[in-house]
Amino acid sequence: MGKLKKIPLYVWILLGMLLGVIWGLLAIKIGLKQFTLDWFSPWGTIFINLLKLVAIPLILVSLIKGISDLKDISSLSGMGLKTIALYIFTTVISISIGLVMVNLINPGSYFPPEKSQEYSEIYRMQVQTKQADASTYQDDGPLQFIVDIVPENMFGAAANNANMLQIIFIALLIGIAMILIPEKQVSPFKKLIDSLNDIVLKLIDIVMKFAPIGVFALLADVIVSVAGENPGDTAALFSALGMYAIVVVLGLMIMVFVVYPVVISSFTKLKFFQFLRGIFPAQLLAFSTSSSAATLPVTKQCVENNLGVDEEVSSFVLPIGATINMDGTSLYQAIAAVFIAQAYGLDLSFSQQITIIITATLASIGSAAVPGAGMVMLVIVLTSVHLPIEGIALIFAMDRPLDMLRTTVNITGDSAVATIINKLQKNSKNRNLNQLPIL
Ligand code: ASP
Repeated sequence: MGKLKKIPLYVWILLGMLLGVIWGLLAIKIGLKQFTLDWFSPWGTIFINLLKLVAIPLILVSLIKGISDLKDISSLSGMGLKTIALYIFTTVISISIGLVMVNLINPGSYFPPEKSQEYSEIYRMQVQTKQADASTYQDDGPLQFIVDIVPENMFGAAANNANMLQIIFIALLIGIAMILIPEKQVSPFKKLIDSLNDIVLKLIDIVMKFAPIGVFALLADVIVSVAGENPGDTAALFSALGMYAIVVVLGLMIMVFVVYPVVISSFTKLKFFQFLRGIFPAQLLAFSTSSSAATLPVTKQCVENNLGVDEEVSSFVLPIGATINMDGTSLYQAIAAVFIAQAYGLDLSFSQQITIIITATLASIGSAAVPGAGMVMLVIVLTSVHLPIEGIALIFAMDRPLDMLRTTVNITGDSAVATIINKLQKNSKNRNLNQLPIL
């Protein structure tokens, strides 16, 4: 028993994932698909709900604590600008990589034309739902995203997980007000926030004890839902969409193994494998849940405990990242849009590809950090370059596995930026200290 306790949690999570895949495949073979959906899948949902449950209190409490501990407000605006700049920079790089790869490899030319009619019929309903979901975003004015950040009711904002930016805004306001009030008046509230912070952290520990079972259920669910009853389906699917999937996976790997190491080593002394090892548990969860928002509590713990990122940095940079920085999603959106054009035999001009860079950046910012959200926003990218929206039927069947991978990249990008901002903040703090007059 003592020995079992020493096994690190991520090993249990990996084991849970492996058993989930094995069970899923077995369930398809011995006809227990419905049994799995009825009796196992709910545990996956419960696990995701538990993670989401702690996300809002975590951001609120840790960000208020982080900001109120700051000595001056100007370092906050500096941190904000650097964070946004780095997020946009990595997103544009990832879309550009996606575009270069999809143009070079031309996966659309491997797509059998007769399949497009078949897929359109199978996925007609799903395409319509995605289209309807996307239309709510398309009608928005240019400044709507700022209006959306400012809530009209604090408790209303806290009642919806999709309102992550509103929660950040409220925490910023409260934190700033606390800096501006004399210490004596705020100290009781500070103590309360400190103790709430400890409670929320303990809650995450408790929820994570359930992680191996949660990921087992999630993966078993994915296997039985995606693979279907006939293993032949999967083979046929792979022959039609295999090249497209390979291009997305290659692009995501370039982000993880080339772009992030270069960016991290340009700003910090952190070894890349140390970085990967530090965020590995969060990557496993992102992969299993397909949701950056649900993974957020664990991403935050990983960068703080394993990579030494300060709480005031991680509680600011990561929730913003989970909401607006989706390198994996934007890369996928760019590749998917061009793949659909190729499969329909439509040529995209250079200016249309530039339009894809701009709209995929905005679309990934607008994508919610939940499973499948990237595909809803893909509708907007397709519309911007006049591609048929029905094209998403072609890639529907492959979406879930690719979502798992792109979500993993999304949180890897957030963590990379958090480590860099941490270093930049430390440098600027040291500079300020060095500039103090020697008494
Ligand atoms: N599932 C992704 C995330 O949560 C978003 C997406 O690409 O669908 O980061």
